[in-house]
Amino acid sequence: MENLYSLTAHELRELIDKKSLEPSRILDEIFKRIELLDDKIKAFVLVNKLNAKAETKIGKLFGIPVLIKDNICVKDENTTCASKILEGFKPPYDATVIKKLKLEGAVLIGKANMDEFAFGSSCETSFYGPTKNPWDLERIPGGSSGGSAAAVAADETILALGSDTGGSIRQPASLCGVVGLKPTYGRVSRYGLIAFASSLDQIGPIAKDVKDAALLLNVIAGHDEMDSTSVDLPVPDYRKSLVKDVKGLRIGVPKEYFVKGIDKDVEEAIKKAINILKDLGAKTIDISLPHTEYALSTYYIVAPAEASSNLARFDGVQYGFRAKDAKDLIDMYVQTRSQGFGNEAKRRILLGTYCLSSGYYDAYYLKAQKVRTKIKEDFDNAFGSLCDCIITPTSPTPAFKIGERIEEPLSMYLSDIYTIPANLAGLPAMSVPCGFSKNNLPIGMQILAKPFAEETIFRTAYTFEQVTDFHKKKPKL
Ligand code: GLN
Repeated sequence: MENLYSLTAHELRELIDKKSLEPSRILDEIFKRIELLDDKIKAFVLVNKLNAKAETKIGKLFGIPVLIKDNICVKDENTTCASKILEGFKPPYDATVIKKLKLEGAVLIGKANMDEFAFGSSCETSFYGPTKNPWDLERIPGGSSGGSAAAVAADETILALGSDTGGSIRQPASLCGVVGLKPTYGRVSRYGLIAFASSLDQIGPIAKDVKDAALLLNVIAGHDEMDSTSVDLPVPDYRKSLVKDVKGLRIGVPKEYFVKGIDKDVEEAIKKAINILKDLGAKTIDISLPHTEYALSTYYIVAPAEASSNLARFDGVQYGFRAKDAKDLIDMYVQTRSQGFGNEAKRRILLGTYCLSSGYYDAYYLKAQKVRTKIKEDFDNAFGSLCDCIITPTSPTPAFKIGERIEEPLSMYLSDIYTIPANLAGLPAMSVPCGFSKNNLPIGMQILAKPFAEETIFRTAYTFEQVTDFHKKKPKL
């Protein structure tokens, strides 16, 4: 039999249901795998070997190992956002998604490395040092959910949770060759997700295939009275959308996404993928999303503005790290924040505070919110009458080298040029493996749909997966 760690959650569930597999065997294998590989990959900031067990023997995820991004609160377990400022912080409560996972029998095996407070696209801003891409250990896994994506790709976990503010689930999924979904804003509760930008953040699944992503979304989605932005709509059973059928599906292909700067291999892979869907009966429609060029600058006003406000709570008084030997209270705040935050976090706090300050608020923040509405209207128009989904690349390039962009924030920010619009507009979007570059690095295709139309995304992605095997390829480790 194949190694258990290389199977998907739905394959393992079948074996468990047939009583031919004891879940503890999966765990043994997974922890051995982590021990063997994680010194190299560094996807974990915490391995929860001692108390990893299912809290119930029933449930949709009974016995399935799940890795949690380190910005999601797990009761009594270190939750640091990969920042020194939260050193030693153990939340007194579970995030809603964690409660739901526990109720369904999932086994939480640890916390995943990430960019500090989810600021980044490479996992290099982590206080604990970078995670490596399993396909090439000299390259970044993407970010900020790089630990989650790398661990899924390296079979160090079966499923993982990430969070996505501007691409942090989809971009690392793409660069590591796995499936990642950012749900519609409001589909999944953010209660217990340590906030980066509250109007953009969503938690979502990272998985080995589309079916596993559906399984995990089924568990975490739904209204939560603890999050007033979660939406009170019934949650469909996403497994029902797993049908091989794209006949008549109208795929929008936005011309603004295929311009200079895009890597040749990426462009080719996406075009081939679209043709595969066409051969199966989908239609393509050339569309225009004219405000795309403003998305990056809009995001880098809105996201840091919200982040600067959200991060004000880390002052050394209530949580985590506190600087020693301060002269007085003000000095304690200053020392704690100076020593506790890394460079990128400081950059975001400065940018955000500036944009929100009186005198600049109208010129930056208010203006950005207006442009955000324009960007959303572009999508409303496209989904209104022209197309059912939109397909684009997830990232303009495959994984880049560690160190290549860290000194140049702007080149790093450009990694998310294709993923940011979905967050600004609140749309669901998934990255699915769709090819490899000439030097054998994974390439992901992004599928977007209108709000709460995750089912369209699942159907499209599942159909594609049925006729391709990119998702089955494994890195040599
Ligand atoms: N890379 C983007 C940023 O640094 C998005 C991060 C995210 O989605 N958390 O803001």
